[in-house]
Amino acid sequence: MAQEDLFKKLVAHCKEYGYVFPSSEIYDGFAAVYDYGQYGVELKNNIKKYWWDSMVLLHENIVGLDSAIFMHPTTWKASGHLDAFNDPLIDNRDSKKRYRADELIEEQLEKYEGKITREAEKARKRFGDAFDEQMFLDTNPRVLAIREKYDALHDRFVKALNETDLKELGQIIADEEIACPLSGSKNWTEVRQFNLMFSTELGSTAENTSRIYLRPETAQGIFVNYLNVQKSGRMKIPFGIAQVGKAFRNEIVARQFIFRMREFEQMEMQFFVPPGTELEWFEYWKSVRIKWFRTLGFGDDKYRFHDHEKLAHYANAASDIEYLFPFGFKEVEGIHSRTDYDLGRHQEFSGKKIQYYDQETGKSYVPYVVETSIGLDRTFLHVISAAYHEEDLIKEDGSSDSRVVMKLPPFLAPIKLAVFPLTRKDGLPEKARTIVEELRFDFNCQYEEKDSIGRRYRRQDAIGTPYCITVDHQTLKDDTVTVRYRDSMEQDRVQITELKQIIKDKVDISNLLKQL
Ligand code: ATP
Repeated sequence: MAQEDLFKKLVAHCKEYGYVFPSSEIYDGFAAVYDYGQYGVELKNNIKKYWWDSMVLLHENIVGLDSAIFMHPTTWKASGHLDAFNDPLIDNRDSKKRYRADELIEEQLEKYEGKITREAEKARKRFGDAFDEQMFLDTNPRVLAIREKYDALHDRFVKALNETDLKELGQIIADEEIACPLSGSKNWTEVRQFNLMFSTELGSTAENTSRIYLRPETAQGIFVNYLNVQKSGRMKIPFGIAQVGKAFRNEIVARQFIFRMREFEQMEMQFFVPPGTELEWFEYWKSVRIKWFRTLGFGDDKYRFHDHEKLAHYANAASDIEYLFPFGFKEVEGIHSRTDYDLGRHQEFSGKKIQYYDQETGKSYVPYVVETSIGLDRTFLHVISAAYHEEDLIKEDGSSDSRVVMKLPPFLAPIKLAVFPLTRKDGLPEKARTIVEELRFDFNCQYEEKDSIGRRYRRQDAIGTPYCITVDHQTLKDDTVTVRYRDSMEQDRVQITELKQIIKDKVDISNLLKQL
C-alpha cells in the first residue's frame, strides 16, 4: 500500500476507534488542534508513564516538576524567545498558501538525494550481483553532477540560516526554481520572520494589563525553578529535572495530523552538569534516548540521528532522533547541549545568583545544561503508525478475510484484556463479569457481549487489545477460559486463576524498564 494511503487510513482509524478527534469537530474542526478520545487518552498516559518512569523512577538524580503554563513575561525576554523564536515564512501569491522557507529548501535537498537513490537503484537492476554501490556513487558522472548541486545548495542554505539572511533564502528559492506544491507557481513574496509565540493579556483593566505568552516549551519552567529544586531537594550536580506539559506554537504550516500542532505536549528533562563536561553528557543522553525508543520493539533501523544544520541561539551541540514515519524520517525528539545560556540569562535578568557551589573544589559556577525534549503527540503518532497493520487472513473453511490490527506493545495498549461470554444466557455473562470484577484492579478491562465472538475479536484488534478472554459452557464446569492472543490469533485454554499472571508478565511496564 502506498504510504500516503496508509497514513490517510490511519487518521480515519484514529477517529473511528476513539483515538484522536479533530478539535471542535461539530464546528468543522479547528486548524492543527486535536482531541484525544477514550482510547487515545489511555495510550497517551501509558507513553507518558514509560517516559516518566524511565527518567524519574530509574534515576536517583532526576526529579520531577509541574510548573505553570503562564510565566512572568521577562522569562521570554531572558530566554531569547521574544527576539529569536522565529521561523522564516514565504507566501505563494497564486495559491495564497504560506510555507516555511527553510522547509521548501530542505525538500529540494531531499529531491536531490532521491535522484541519487534512484540512479543507484537503476544501476543495481542493470548490474545485478556484481553491483558495487559505493564505487558507483563515487564514480558515476550523473551521480557526481547531482551531488555537486546538492553540496552547493546545502552550503548556501546553511550559511543563509546561520546568518539569518532572509533575502538569500528567498534568492535560493528563486534560483532553484522551487514551485508551490499546490499551484505549481513560482510567484513568491519575499521571506519574512514570524514569531511563533502566542500572546494574550493578563489583567482586567486597560491600565493594568500586561502582555503574557503561552509557553512555547516547558523547559523555561524548569530553569526558573532550578534554585528551588536544587536547594529544597539538596541536589548534587549532575542532576536532572523532568517535566511533562503543554506547549504552544503558532506554527506557520501545521500539517500531518498530530505531527505538527499549535497546542501540543512535551516531555522534557534538563540535566545540569559542570561546565566542560556537557558534550560527554550530550553523547550519553543521545544513546540513552535512542535506546528508549528501540526498546519499544518496532525495529532498530526505524530510528536515526540527525545533527542540526543550524544551532539554536542557546546550543553548542544538537541532534534529533528521527523515526521513519509513513511520510519519511522525521524528528520525534531533540537532544540539545544548551550551555549555561538559559541559567546565565535568568541570572542576568532576575538579578538573582543562579549558581552551584561545588563543595569539593570550593568554587561556584552557573551549571551547563543538556536537555532531552520529546514530543508526546509525535511519539503517539510514531507508536500508532508503527502499530497499524492490515492483514489478509485465510479462515478455517478456506475463505479469505481481513483485519485491521493495532499491534501496540502490550504495556502501551489502552485496554489490556476484553472478556466475552460466548452467549448471553446460561449464566455465562455473570461468570464473565466476575472475571472483570476481579481483574479490574490490575488492568484496564472491557466486558463485551454483543455480536459474534469473531466480530468482538475484530473490534478489539482494531483497538489493539492484546488479550481476549472467552467464557463458555466448559468454564462453568472447570473454571477454565480461552485466552486469544491478538498478534498470533492463537488460543490457549487456561485456569481463571492463572489469568492475572499471564497478562501481568506481558503488560507490566517494569519488565520493559529493566531492559533500558
Ligand atoms: P520542528 O523542527 O519539527 O519544528 P523543533 O526542532 O522546533 O521541531 P523542539 O523545539 O526541539 O522542536 O521541540 C522538541 C520536540 O517537541 C520535538 O522533537 C517534537 O517532538 C515536539 N514538537 C515541537 N513542535 C511541535 C509541534 N508543533 N507539534 C507537535 N510536537 C512538536
